Amino acid sequence: MEHRIATIGSHSALQILKGAKDEGFGTIAVCEREKSWPYRRFKVADSIIELDRMSSFPETENELIKENAILIPHASFMNIMSIGQIENLKVPYFGNKSILKWESDRTLQREWLRKAGLTLPGIFKKPEDIDVPAIVKFHGAKGGKGFFLAKSGEEFHRKIEEHHGKTYIIQEYIVGAPIYIHYFHSPLDDELEVMSFDKRYESNVDSIGRIAAKDQLDMGLETSYNITGNVPMVIRESLLPQVFEMGEAVVEASRKIEGRGLIGPFSLETVITPELQFYVFEISARIVAGTNPYINGSPYTALRYKEPMSTGRRIAREIRQAIKDRELHKVLG
Ligand code: ATP
Repeated sequence: MEHRIATIGSHSALQILKGAKDEGFGTIAVCEREKSWPYRRFKVADSIIELDRMSSFPETENELIKENAILIPHASFMNIMSIGQIENLKVPYFGNKSILKWESDRTLQREWLRKAGLTLPGIFKKPEDIDVPAIVKFHGAKGGKGFFLAKSGEEFHRKIEEHHGKTYIIQEYIVGAPIYIHYFHSPLDDELEVMSFDKRYESNVDSIGRIAAKDQLDMGLETSYNITGNVPMVIRESLLPQVFEMGEAVVEASRKIEGRGLIGPFSLETVITPELQFYVFEISARIVAGTNPYINGSPYTALRYKEPMSTGRRIAREIRQAIKDRELHKVLG
């Protein structure tokens, strides 16, 4: 029986399912009831499994196994399941599950990025240490919701009050241009590809400039970083060598920390300073939503491929190749 490609109906599922169809796979979307519209209407899912609550996803397992499905993870998996639950899934899973703990724990993530020799924003161990602008981030935050800035311990304590009981980290705030880099590492060819770049469109930080500074102060506005969408972009070409170097270093470090290392798509979230120094503030070890503007390929994939190549399609192509070479084990969980 042919393999089918399955994912949760959210995040980058349109791209993943369309890419799978382009590579000749049948597709399955697992959706929360009443949220299946996009997958039906855009005709990317051959079948849809509807659930009352997304948290009951593990119960669909037997059905997915029966359908010979391969699961493609994205951020929604991390939001609805614990790492333990993901590790226990028996349905074939694209990517290296063992890397998840390195990504989801901010301390381990830092260790990984440090091993790769990347420049990271500083961390303040306690609020009283804040002596430059800092960004306060909560664990498990969904796309920057609730993050705030503090320039001193006093400001931190004032603003943290409404976030009672949440765990957080205090990170140096880097002033510069935030740029998200999308990579794909193929374990079959042992090659790193730069797929695309995006910048985010976050509320309210990306629209606050529409209000005069005086009005911002009068209104007592606070910046927040809630993601609403992604904007496609290209990077200054002379920065590309560094982009490749950073990606290669992260892949190499991933092998040191976790055997098989990174499999498939990953992203470095960076801020570039006016001195053109990259600061990496996060890594995502799977497809990111910033690849969504490129369902029809990006300027960079256009250089390398003769047909439109999204990250979703690139995943399906890797699976297709692995099946052909009888090496599926190299790309699965
Ligand atoms: P996701 O997991 O969806 O990437 P998140 O909740 O982990 O989101 P971050 O991506 O870490 O949040 O941060 C959200 C936003 O905050 C970023 O897009 C960026 O604009 C800003 N930001 C985060 N860290 C820094 C930093 N150190 N300096 C400057 N800006 C930052």
